[in-house]
Amino acid sequence: CKVEKDSTVSTSCNITFQEINNINENIRNDLQSLVNTDFFKYFKLDIYKQCPFWDDSNRLCTDGSCSIDIVEDWSKLPEYWQPEHLSELKDPSNSSDEDLVTDCSFLDQLCNDNKKLQYMQNDIDYCDVNEFESKESVLIDLTKNPERFTGYGGQQSANIWKHIYGENCFSMDTQGKCLAKDAFYRLVSGLHASIGVHISNEMLNSETGQWGPNLEFFMSRVGNFPDRITNIYFNYAVVAKSLWKIMPFLKHLDFCNEYDNDVKGKIINITSQLDSNIFQEDLLFKNDLDYSLKDEFRSRFKNVTKIMDCVDCDTCRLWGKVQTTGYATSLKILFEFDEADEESRQNVVDKLTKYELIALLNTFDRLSQAIEAINSFERMYNKNMNNL
Ligand code: FAD
Repeated sequence: CKVEKDSTVSTSCNITFQEINNINENIRNDLQSLVNTDFFKYFKLDIYKQCPFWDDSNRLCTDGSCSIDIVEDWSKLPEYWQPEHLSELKDPSNSSDEDLVTDCSFLDQLCNDNKKLQYMQNDIDYCDVNEFESKESVLIDLTKNPERFTGYGGQQSANIWKHIYGENCFSMDTQGKCLAKDAFYRLVSGLHASIGVHISNEMLNSETGQWGPNLEFFMSRVGNFPDRITNIYFNYAVVAKSLWKIMPFLKHLDFCNEYDNDVKGKIINITSQLDSNIFQEDLLFKNDLDYSLKDEFRSRFKNVTKIMDCVDCDTCRLWGKVQTTGYATSLKILFEFDEADEESRQNVVDKLTKYELIALLNTFDRLSQAIEAINSFERMYNKNMNNL
């Protein structure tokens, strides 16, 4: 796919494409099985949320492939996903500071521990972390709603992408600020390209009725554009580094082993394969002047997560929300962690919500599966060329 595998991914990623391929091969099985566990396979989404940027009251999702299958038979769910348990949590926006049972600590929800924590409103978030607890949100089994070709396209999706890329127009553009701006573009383009890979990898063959890869489609969307491939690897490095950073704290978390003994082991297997050199986030916002750029970066990224509510196709919106929330969580970990202060680092991790963690690991899995698919498409391409 025209990328030099021995070259480094970018200035801020001190790792080669091949090294990422190797890491990915080592963690792929654990990651795949992790996102299929009862804890990581559910996500919540308000499917009727209004688009905050334009009137979308005529939004219709009539096509079967873009509608989502929501959880209706609650009896088969583990205890910590039962409505009675979830409803113990109050909506922070409707409560006074004092009696808030926050969803800041995902453990409180997961383990049915009623310990009350002080809800803290802060400005370190790159997405709205409270939206998943809205009364309108429905529970969705991600494994039953795979990210694949839905037919969503044309002017509607092009418009969404145009708005997302539009968020990239930072007002300041002087030397030294380019790496952050470059990173923002790569994050968006890498997300776009990763979606393109998943669509190409799971297309419905109208003749056989089977879902499978379509090389021609892949080449026209992603394969012929080395920069798009590079941006998927870049995003992999960003998310991997954020997981690496919270690794010491994850070890101390109790993933409710009574429900799944393996979850913690899988997470440790995955994170222990990662390397701190994979992404050098400290190159992005280096000095005081850059702090205002960071605020702008954060607020623009928040807008990208909100634009997901304008996506007309439910399946696409679901995966768009999961992945933008996953990137937002990575960015919070990478840029809002006070390296020198152990307590503040622990604090950031403790306050991650269940949905942020689910989104983070599922986003990593999306990128990991995209990289596996890119390598498989490359083999298909080479085989086709040899047969010519
Ligand atoms: P688009 O992909 O719409 O791209 C528009 C323009 O952006 C292109 O013409 C090109 O100039 C540029 N571009 C394309 N890729 C990149 C890149 N990686 N980096 C920089 N520039 C680029 N469709 C599905 O079938 N299943 C899904 O699950 C799905 N999820 C989606 C989620 C979101 C949030 C959005 C906005 C769209 C989703 N789509 C999904 C639609 C899909 O992304 C495409 O928009 C659609 O397939 C039409 O593709 P296209 O080739 O016309 O160009």
